[in-house]
Amino acid sequence: MCSNHRLACSCGRNKANIMFRNHILPPMVVCNLYCPECSKNVTLKLECMIFDNNWIMEFDLTLAHGYLKRVNVNTEFISPEFLFDQGYATWNGLTPNDLEHRLVEREEIVALAAHDMRQYLAEMKRWGCERAQKFREAGWRKAQQC
Ligand SMILES: [Zn+2]
Repeated sequence: MCSNHRLACSCGRNKANIMFRNHILPPMVVCNLYCPECSKNVTLKLECMIFDNNWIMEFDLTLAHGYLKRVNVNTEFISPEFLFDQGYATWNGLTPNDLEHRLVEREEIVALAAHDMRQYLAEMKRWGCERAQKFREAGWRKAQQC
């Protein structure tokens, strides 16, 4: 299970839903989080940051290294991309705020299930594809592979 952590960005104006695969890494491995507002003043350091659609997640790689080593993950190529793409510290969903939107949108479709199962399943599928495409076009990193 991967539970959700809601972390505030550096300027405090926004929050992101972040999950940590199998709880291997503690939330403090994300040492800084910048929303599109506060990321404007940040110099991107590729060696410890991931940049995704004007959001920046900064990692404490030394800390991550220690935790991953304990569970025998090959830490030779550890990088911000590795942590993010492998789900060790990543958005819960496709974007920082996907979780809330997903739940609300889903509820509307779930209501259909009581009336028409076939339509419900078709709607679910269409919804999943459409939103993934929307995020892919917007340039979100996690939507590129799905
Ligand atoms: Zn901010």
